[in-house]
Amino acid sequence: MVSLEDLKEKVRESVEGQRQRLYEISEFIYENPELGSEELKAAELLTGELEENGFRVERGILSMPTAFCATFEGRGEGPRVAVLAEYDALPGVGHGCGHNLIAASAIGAGIAASKAMAQLKGEVLVVGTPAEEGHGPSGGAKVILAERGFWDDIDGAIMLHPSSAWVVGSRALGISMVKMEFEGQTSHAAASPQEGVNALNAATLAFMATHMLRQEARRDANLVIHGIISEGGLASNIIPDRAVCDFGVRSSDDDYLDLMVDKVARCAEGAALAMGAKVNVTKRKLYSGKKVNEPMVEVLWNNYASLGVELKPWRESVNGMPRASTDLGDVSRKIPVASSSIAVTEPGTPGHSVLMADATMTEKGQEAMIVGTKALAMTLVELLAMPEKLRAAKEYFNSH
Ligand SMILES: [Zn+2]
Ligand SMILES: [Zn+2]
Repeated sequence: MVSLEDLKEKVRESVEGQRQRLYEISEFIYENPELGSEELKAAELLTGELEENGFRVERGILSMPTAFCATFEGRGEGPRVAVLAEYDALPGVGHGCGHNLIAASAIGAGIAASKAMAQLKGEVLVVGTPAEEGHGPSGGAKVILAERGFWDDIDGAIMLHPSSAWVVGSRALGISMVKMEFEGQTSHAAASPQEGVNALNAATLAFMATHMLRQEARRDANLVIHGIISEGGLASNIIPDRAVCDFGVRSSDDDYLDLMVDKVARCAEGAALAMGAKVNVTKRKLYSGKKVNEPMVEVLWNNYASLGVELKPWRESVNGMPRASTDLGDVSRKIPVASSSIAVTEPGTPGHSVLMADATMTEKGQEAMIVGTKALAMTLVELLAMPEKLRAAKEYFNSH
């Protein structure tokens, strides 16, 4: 009987063996940044790599051309565990969110785990989830997969994301979008302003009203409101008849988020009323907040720690302040998930920046990817080798 420790050793060796190839994969995706829903080159590279390594690959799942599901079967029926890949870039800053490293690590971890499957029951999956940044028809693919029941027969999912710190077990904020389209009446801004209705003034007032909501915000709910005026007129001598605001509203409490979205919408309605303009408000739920599954997080944390990574205790991360949002949140509402951050930059380096993109190609960034790939691979085999841990995760999921 092969021990779990032997299996973990085997997958670590596999990741070492793939080191050069994983560098190449992350570099190719870095050099060829593709926006969400358009990640054709990345999807082709990743699915090809998995197929060559014996995975059964389904491309274009659920009508999303760049989504995929790759499966490797073990020696019999058993649980199904997944590692998730992202590979979309951002406009202007390329891989400023470092998804090139997420892609390489998922492929590397899946292939490494497959080397242990002769000893294990169940299946290991690598799921390609496009457009995490929300661009195009496959935007937030994990949500689309959740809505269509894709996750329902998967027992657990893990992944990593580049950042400036090693963290396992952080929560994420739910996010909704609020679009305000104000309609007024154009007129000459100097000769006949009395005949106009200034839509930009209504938008400005809505902005100010939204700012004022913040004072009353529940601090424990981690409310964040951010917005832009995306349209504000065509020329300064024409009173604008159209102005548009786009807001993101985030919170760690989904019910509170819905309440605040309604309040932000009311700011638009009040501003329109005050200025005599009309307004059309569109609310759209983007991503749910991420639930932490403590038993899964503990397994992943222990594997990072066993590789010598210095991490704060996972309970501290779980109780820490969630900062960003992710479509992994919607997966966490369907099945147990555990995610991790790998440190590729120095603290203080902004996310969604060229600095972050370039950091993924440094020695520090690449080494962090390799360490993270090992931790993910070890976690996949541990969950399959010890199904009682997956059962504990399921029980936790059902009771929280
Ligand atoms: Zn991002
Ligand atoms: Zn990201």
